[in-house]
Amino acid sequence: MITAGFEYHRPTSLDEALMLMERYGEGARPLAGGTDLVVRLKDGRDEPGAVVDLKGIKELERLEASDDALLIGALVTFTDIIESELVREKLPLLWEAATNVASMGVRNRATLVGNICSAVPSLDSGPALLVHEADVLVRGPDGHRRIPITEWFTGPKRTALGAGELVTGVAVPLPRDAHAGCYVRAGRYAGEDLAQVGAAALALEGDRYRVAFCAVGPVATRARDIEAVLNGRPLDTDIIEEAVTLVPDEIAPITDIRASKEYRAHMAGVLLTRALRTAASRLAGDGPGYGERVV
Ligand SMILES: Cc1cc2nc3c(=O)[nH]c(=O)nc-3n(C[C@H](O)[C@H](O)[C@H](O)COP(=O)(O)OP(=O)(O)OC[C@H]3O[C@@H](n4cnc5c(N)ncnc54)[C@H](O)[C@@H]3O)c2cc1C
Repeated sequence: MITAGFEYHRPTSLDEALMLMERYGEGARPLAGGTDLVVRLKDGRDEPGAVVDLKGIKELERLEASDDALLIGALVTFTDIIESELVREKLPLLWEAATNVASMGVRNRATLVGNICSAVPSLDSGPALLVHEADVLVRGPDGHRRIPITEWFTGPKRTALGAGELVTGVAVPLPRDAHAGCYVRAGRYAGEDLAQVGAAALALEGDRYRVAFCAVGPVATRARDIEAVLNGRPLDTDIIEEAVTLVPDEIAPITDIRASKEYRAHMAGVLLTRALRTAASRLAGDGPGYGERVV
C-alpha cells in the first residue's frame, strides 16, 4: 500500500508533462511502467511532491527505424521490444538482453527508458546499449539534448538527466557492417531477480569487437582495454584468455545479497568468454540462436 501523499497528473502531451516537471521541480517523479517507482513509493523510500504519469503521451510509444537508427520511445516496454520483428532483425543483441529481464509480468510494464533512468548497476539493457553506442534523447526547459549512453550513467542510481528534464527515448544506431552479438547474465535463479553479472559482446566484421558489463561496478561500462586487445585479430583461445586477464582492471565488483565480489570477478571472465565466442560464431552464421542459453 502507498501511504505517502502526492499529487498525481496524467498529461497527454510532452509539453504539458514538461510544464509539470518544471512546476514541481525536485519533487516531480515521472512514471512509466512503475516497476521501480511504485515499489519505492510502497516501501516509503521515496516521497515525491507529484507523480507525472507519462502513459497518456502517445508520441512516447514510438518504436521505429530510420535509415541509420532505431528509435525506442520512453513508453516502449521490454515486451514491446521482444515482440518487435524490427528489433529482432536489426538489433538482435538488444532483443536478447530484453528477454533476460525479470518475468513476463514485469516485462509487460517495465520500459527500457525506465530501466536506464533507474540506473541500477545491474540493469540488463545497459551493456547492449553501450556496445551499440546508443544516445539518450532528452527534452527539458532548454530544449532537446542528446546524451551518449557512455556519459549517461554517473553513479549507482544516478544519471546525467538535469532538473526538469524528461527522457523521450533512446536512439540506437544501426551498424552498417555485418554484426552479431550476445548478452549473457548470471543470476541466482530463473525469474524475477537482478543480474549478479551481465556481459555483452558485439562482433563486427573485420575482427572488431565491443564489450560491456553490468553489475560488476557502480555503473554499467564499456571495457575499452579489452576491446583494444581483441580488435584486428581473429578471435582464438589465446586472445580470449588474454582478454580475460584484463577483466579485473575493467571492473570494480562489490559483495551484496546477490553475490560476493570474488564470484562476480570470476563470472565476469566466464561470461566474457561465452559472450565473445557466441557473438563470433553467430557472425559466422553458426552458433546458438538468440535467446538460447549459453551459460
Ligand atoms: C520483481 C522485479 C524484477 C526486476 N527484474 C529486473 C531485471 O531482471 N533486470 C532489470 O534490468 N531490471 C529489473 N527490475 C527493475 C525494473 O523492472 C526495471 O528497471 C524497469 O525497466 C523500470 O522501468 P519502468 O518503466 O517500470 O520504470 P518506472 O518505475 O516507471 O521508473 C523508474 C525510474 O525512472 C524514472 N523515469 C521513468 N521514465 C522516465 C522518463 N521518461 N524520463 C525521466 N525519468 C523517467 C522514474 O521517475 C523512476 O525514477 C525488476 C523490478 C522488479 C520489481
